[in-house]
Amino acid sequence: MQYKKLAQLYEDLSSTTKRLEKIEILSKFLKFLPKEDRDVMYLLEGMIYPEYDDRKIGISNQLAIKAISKATGISPDKVTKEWKTIGDLGEVAKKLFQNKKQSTLHSYILTTEKVIENLRKLPELVGKGTVNKKLALITELMTSASPIEAQYLTRTVIGDLRIGVQEGTIRESMSAAFFDRDKQASEAIQKAIDKANDLAIVFDIARKGKLKGLEKVSLEIGKPIKAMLAQKATSFKEGFEKVGSPCAVEYKYDGFRLIIHKKGKEVFLFTRMLENVTKQFPEVVECILKHVKGNSFILDSETVGFDKKTKEYTDFQAISQRIRRKYDIEKLQEKLPVEVNVFDILYYNGKSLLEKPFEERSKLLRKILTEKKYKILASKQLITDDEKKADKFYKKALADNQEGVMMKNLKSDYRPGRRVGNMVKMKPEERDLDLVITGAEYGTGKRSGWLSSFILSCRGKKKDEYFEIGKVGTGIAEKDNEITFDSLTKLLTPLITSEKGKIAKIKPKIVVSVTYQEVQRSPNYKSGWALRFPRFTALRPDKPLKEIADPKEIEEAFKNQKRNWRFG
Ligand code: AMP
Repeated sequence: MQYKKLAQLYEDLSSTTKRLEKIEILSKFLKFLPKEDRDVMYLLEGMIYPEYDDRKIGISNQLAIKAISKATGISPDKVTKEWKTIGDLGEVAKKLFQNKKQSTLHSYILTTEKVIENLRKLPELVGKGTVNKKLALITELMTSASPIEAQYLTRTVIGDLRIGVQEGTIRESMSAAFFDRDKQASEAIQKAIDKANDLAIVFDIARKGKLKGLEKVSLEIGKPIKAMLAQKATSFKEGFEKVGSPCAVEYKYDGFRLIIHKKGKEVFLFTRMLENVTKQFPEVVECILKHVKGNSFILDSETVGFDKKTKEYTDFQAISQRIRRKYDIEKLQEKLPVEVNVFDILYYNGKSLLEKPFEERSKLLRKILTEKKYKILASKQLITDDEKKADKFYKKALADNQEGVMMKNLKSDYRPGRRVGNMVKMKPEERDLDLVITGAEYGTGKRSGWLSSFILSCRGKKKDEYFEIGKVGTGIAEKDNEITFDSLTKLLTPLITSEKGKIAKIKPKIVVSVTYQEVQRSPNYKSGWALRFPRFTALRPDKPLKEIADPKEIEEAFKNQKRNWRFG
């Protein structure tokens, strides 16, 4: 298919913010999308493979600038200058390609196949000369591009497509194209997407217009699925209202989500970001083979760290390096041991259990798992309709060093990737501190051109002394909010004292209120403290610097938080 057609579709989709109009546009396109072009489904989401595939495009703005420069003959400096004023590199490409003077003798008609072919070569490149090879592959595409093709090619390579199309829109468009937007079909398409996690596969089945085909899509061992997400509750009353009564109350473990697949002697471990982390946790693989019965299964779990000597559970930060580190695994395994807490089972001996009620799944996992403390356990669970009992259980979870509790609907199915309210979380309330911004980092992708991550500091003992305590990038809406990246960038830019790479030092002046979940001792920050999950809540021009938090106040907050005992 000509890339021109896809670029025009992107353009049409961007021209409206109305979902129904987007569905109409996209469904017309899908109706006539030939089977051979099914990989275009990935491009619709700005990808080249299904979401779970590790092979990503991964091109920096700088490299994209070079490609634009090479294809247009305009210097990288000039491209960068345009980028600073326009803000969106795609728009920059479009503008510069309109004035392109170079001969187009070497160009050919760009097809989606060629785009996919070149982009798929990018993640395969390693070693010496990689950057130049990547540049050549992108430039080759750009050289044949029209202004609008260049715009969307640029946005695709830097991972910022901006067409306002999410999975839900694609689902409804397939439903409209092949099933007259029948509600049952929409549901079947969603379930097929949840199980296959691959839009091209689902498109291929949906285009035949048969519900039965969609229903046949199954989970596959070794292919990651999205984890079901939780809503929030602020009281047990609200929790019971949301998930029904009685419900299952479970410890909310403070670790990281691990979805475990097994078939025969093979085990695969995936994070909630769908990354394969099997190699990083050989002891978990061994433990699954030894302590869980069944030929094949998929388990959902939270993996927590504990201190080898004291056997006390540690917080997530303590074990986070185990997820990334790909060398010295044995050493790290010794130093930072983990325990798997299994709370759900999604597949067992060849059959999907997604549609079975939670209580049934929960019972089954408890049957097939042999618990071994500090290796693998079933989640601690209480089935109750009594707020007082639930509260007692919650306090025990906090005392056991965990984050709070989850409340789960006993009859509900498992909805991969959804936050539908079958499961809610209850955690201690967040608290506030007033702090000052002393540094920031320039963003990339959607946030390019803006400062997007901010370093927060508290006061030191001496005058004009500030100590870092955390970094915040959330709690900021990109528009329609009092605090935006744009407004913060404008506010902070005149206060920049020095810049090194993407990091800027900022004169302490802008006071902000942040909420956070917990204070922890930190060897990394000079203040000796780190905030867990800080979020901006307000700018505090009314607060003088001398009134922001000092280490004493933070120590106080630390002492008063419910879980402090484990540190003190
Ligand atoms: P949050 O990350 O705050 O949205 O809370 C949801 C997360 O809690 C899940 O993604 C899991 O990683 C984690 N979690 C810990 N314990 C449980 C449990 N017993 N059931 C479900 N999720 C849990």
